[in-house]
Amino acid sequence: MQSNILEVKNLKTTFSSRKTSFNAVDGISFQVGRGETLGIVGESGCGKSVTSLSIMGLVKSPGKVSGDTIDFNGVNLLDLSKKEMRNLRGSEMSMIFQEPMTSLNPVYSVGDQIGESLKIHRKLKRKERKETVVDLLKQVGIPRADEIYHSYPHQLSGGMRQRVMIAMAMACDPKLIIADEPTTALDVTIQAQILELMKELQRKKGMSMILITHDLGVVSEVCDRLVVMYAGKIVETGPVKEVLSNPSHPYTKGLLASLPKKGQKEKRLNFIPGQVPAPLNWGKGCRFADRCPYVMSECHNSMPPLLEVNKVHESACWLASEGEERDSNDLIGTAR
Ligand code: SF4
Repeated sequence: MQSNILEVKNLKTTFSSRKTSFNAVDGISFQVGRGETLGIVGESGCGKSVTSLSIMGLVKSPGKVSGDTIDFNGVNLLDLSKKEMRNLRGSEMSMIFQEPMTSLNPVYSVGDQIGESLKIHRKLKRKERKETVVDLLKQVGIPRADEIYHSYPHQLSGGMRQRVMIAMAMACDPKLIIADEPTTALDVTIQAQILELMKELQRKKGMSMILITHDLGVVSEVCDRLVVMYAGKIVETGPVKEVLSNPSHPYTKGLLASLPKKGQKEKRLNFIPGQVPAPLNWGKGCRFADRCPYVMSECHNSMPPLLEVNKVHESACWLASEGEERDSNDLIGTAR
């Protein structure tokens, strides 16, 4: 048995029209170990959600997924038919989305919706299905599970709906769960509860998880390793503790400097000046160049590959191996 549940090599997701074509995900490679949680971080438009949809086979036309391999548990997902991917989704791997109301069907009870994948993938009969669903609802911390089984999504709070989504994702004991901003739409206190629940379930069941988020605070709580994406590329990767304590790429440093500090009383929020460039404006050089205070002429001419910072840590910056100490506050602007 291979040690990684997922190995992605040179993944590209291309969107084309009659006039133009661009790679929203532009040749990225990473892996997820068994029982590991990988965080994928970046601002909106960096390609992190498209990456997760590409792995799940959920990119809609005109999007096209290609690459060397998406090896999931020894099977190259790029070789599977739509039907084979459908069979895999919900059984071997499943997804939790940001906004449960858009994923749950308003006209079916939560019990029926969670039971659906048990019916399709595990062929359970009605009575067994109900017992399994009630048990799942209890596992995700839903009180009065027998009663909630018959409830409709609109009768539940946001936190309860996200717990239902987690129960649905776990129904068939998947080997891999991809959670795309699972707590972004929730209140801060509920966010902490949901993250704690996901951590606990993952530990108990030994599942692997990819957590997509824009929040490095969430990553530090939950993840083992980290991939930072910028403009369709991976710009930094390594173990979470290593990357967060020794960030190398100016973009990661900027993201870290933008986090509110403990006990910070100032109302000003830090931010990285500028925006992620649109794909049609990606030049041949480093895509962070327009926002980077350390930009040099060579940065505009050629794109840095992932360079070794140390044995477990890589960064796509020409300065990566120089190990220079730079103050991350040089990188940020402020807003009131
Ligand atoms: Fe900045 Fe150049 Fe490094 Fe890009 S390669 S992050 S522009 S220093």
